[in-house]
Amino acid sequence: MTEQTPFHSGFAAIIGRPNVGKSTLINRLVGEKVSIVSPKPQTTRNKLLGIVTTQQAQIIFVDTPGIHRPRTKLGEYMEKAAEDALQGIDVLCVLVDALKVNAQDHEIVKRFGNVKIPKYLLINKVDLIHPQQLLPIIDSFKDDGFDMILPLSAKTGEGVEELTKAIYGALPEGPHYYPEDIFTDQTQRQMVAEIIREKALMNLKEEIPHGIGVEILTLKEESDTFTQVHATIYCERNSHKGIIIGQKGRMLQQIGTQARAGIEALLDTHVNLQLWVKVRPGWRDNSSDLKTLGYWNN
Ligand code: GDP
Ligand code: MG
Repeated sequence: MTEQTPFHSGFAAIIGRPNVGKSTLINRLVGEKVSIVSPKPQTTRNKLLGIVTTQQAQIIFVDTPGIHRPRTKLGEYMEKAAEDALQGIDVLCVLVDALKVNAQDHEIVKRFGNVKIPKYLLINKVDLIHPQQLLPIIDSFKDDGFDMILPLSAKTGEGVEELTKAIYGALPEGPHYYPEDIFTDQTQRQMVAEIIREKALMNLKEEIPHGIGVEILTLKEESDTFTQVHATIYCERNSHKGIIIGQKGRMLQQIGTQARAGIEALLDTHVNLQLWVKVRPGWRDNSSDLKTLGYWNN
């Protein structure tokens, strides 16, 4: 008689300050681009799931917005999403940036130090530091009650397999929460909007930090090989609108070209992308605008 190994599954939260590399790590773990990445803080607004399924196990990663003090309604929303993300979690990963460990990281680590589930402290971006710099960082966290302190690089992949192994080892027996070919819970519409927002953030440098929201007006598969996408980029000021459109429309064109390539890769069809730019002052503080742009607390 052959004995079947039981299937293990569960939820792993990735927590940490903005910009420490949470989205990069999830994408690396999942092997697909499920979360947009940018050098600017607070890029991630929704909690997202990245799902890894193997023969023996399924890990569902929750990518939380960075924990920070709420300043606007969007900030409060993100704070709540971060707290919600901890409900029903089996493993907790707190991520810090090896180059920029600060008091806030220590605050976060202490805040989660007494959570009664397996918890790992991940020191990310070790590709950017000298190995000698690592020891004092590890030392500074050693009394915080974490089960493991793991240096890694989401960018190069160093240490990531060790993390996956540790998480597998900590998961309880459980079902397939998702079919094995599913790697995210985001809708296609959300992913398309996020690709456009990512390309806008990438191209706009520091000028228009976070006053950008994307609304998908049309997402229509005209055929197996062709999809029509219409979207509006919202910004908070008239001057921002000018910058997003750019001289002779060049900036918008560039954002559009890059976003179209990303959407084509996602949907695996040709895409006709039309973008509009509209000013909606204070949308980040307006609940109904937040809903239009897909930021729900549910
Ligand atoms: P998040 O806000 O925590 O989700 O951070 P992101 O994943 O958006 O990453 C923020 C920035 O850090 C981006 O520019 C990433 O390319 C960069 N980054 C993330 N992980 C690493 C890493 O391991 N090494 C290096 N050198 N850069 C990284
Ligand atoms: Mg992120």
